[in-house]
Amino acid sequence: MRKEFLPFSPPFVGEEEVEAAVQALRSGWITTGPRAKEFETAFAARLGAPGALALSSCTAALHTALVTLGIGPGDEVVTTPITFAASANVIEHTGARPVFVDVEPDTLNLDPAAARAAVTPRTKAILPVHFTGHPCEMDAIHALASEHGLAVVEDAAHALPARYRGKLVGSSANPVAFSFYATKNLTTAEGGMLTGEPTFLDRARVVALHGMSRDAWRRYERGGSWRYDIELPGFKYNMPDLLAAIGLVQLRRLEAMQKRREEVVAAYAKAFAGHAALEVPVRRSHVDPAWHLYVLRLRLDRLTIDRDTFLEKMREQNIGCSVHFIPLHTQPFYRRKYKLQPDDFPVAYGNFTRMLSLPLHPGLTDQDVADVADAVLEVASRHAR
Ligand SMILES: *Cc1c(COP(=O)(O)O)cnc(C)c1O
Repeated sequence: MRKEFLPFSPPFVGEEEVEAAVQALRSGWITTGPRAKEFETAFAARLGAPGALALSSCTAALHTALVTLGIGPGDEVVTTPITFAASANVIEHTGARPVFVDVEPDTLNLDPAAARAAVTPRTKAILPVHFTGHPCEMDAIHALASEHGLAVVEDAAHALPARYRGKLVGSSANPVAFSFYATKNLTTAEGGMLTGEPTFLDRARVVALHGMSRDAWRRYERGGSWRYDIELPGFKYNMPDLLAAIGLVQLRRLEAMQKRREEVVAAYAKAFAGHAALEVPVRRSHVDPAWHLYVLRLRLDRLTIDRDTFLEKMREQNIGCSVHFIPLHTQPFYRRKYKLQPDDFPVAYGNFTRMLSLPLHPGLTDQDVADVADAVLEVASRHAR
């Protein structure tokens, strides 16, 4: 058994990130400015995105996108219950109603057929989440959206870098939101990016910074004017240069970090292949997942313990695991407000009761990966039915 506890997902930053942050601090400009601009340009270029807007979080990016689209009270936005709270909370923030629909049994992504069935005259947008970094069926989602004149706002918090039919998530014209939270595939400690059309992002930039028609950086440039206009009561969602400096380094390391994630996934797949009690994550043939999470599903009929106990046994083996996600329709706020039952979305709820997330990050050594796999196999065989 492993001697030291293996944390689930420590941040993966090195001396280069430290150096870049220190340089930014010493540069004389620490909040949003030239580095944030450079990060936006480099990020858009890396994805082939029409444009990019650096923000304080993915939550901020999603909220900004919905507000810029004009979504508000009386509107409905179709989304998935298998996601982090932010995806639906931002819909609530606009005054619109999140309409949950069930997920596909293999990917656990929003089911386009269920989304179609949920469209009403009040529906304004679809908010798909690329769960674990496996892209949603975007062809079906865009087809549904264009039939009904709906916007598509993608939650790509897990999906950097992911490809759907050869195209990188974030390279499309619709708004796509990325997260640079501490545990995400690319981190700035906290941060996010909104990609989309430049004309849309110009309006989003105003929404995300006080509703101010000129940003502070330009105001303080030589030749800049002290005048500004408040066009609407906007938010305070800008990304400081201090964090953009870290993001620029992480972006250069993205490919190497991604390669390591893929190696870890391959090692897990090999270790768990053909095991009666373990279901490994799927990968549809037309996508390249970003592998943000490794969600293992237990065949509970083959085990004498439930998922929660399995997780405890993993901790006893000194392996930190987690669960992504507690379905949103079972959370008190959403359950009460919309009078939802766990079985309203049986695929989402049924899979929730049997899934756990194993450590998956670029900092894992081959020994760490072997320790995780051994612990899973040990717990599964000791509690086999
Ligand atoms: C992390 C996460 C978010 C929120 O990202 P922040 O950058 O922390 O705001 C949104 N959606 C999903 C699916 C996430 O995992």
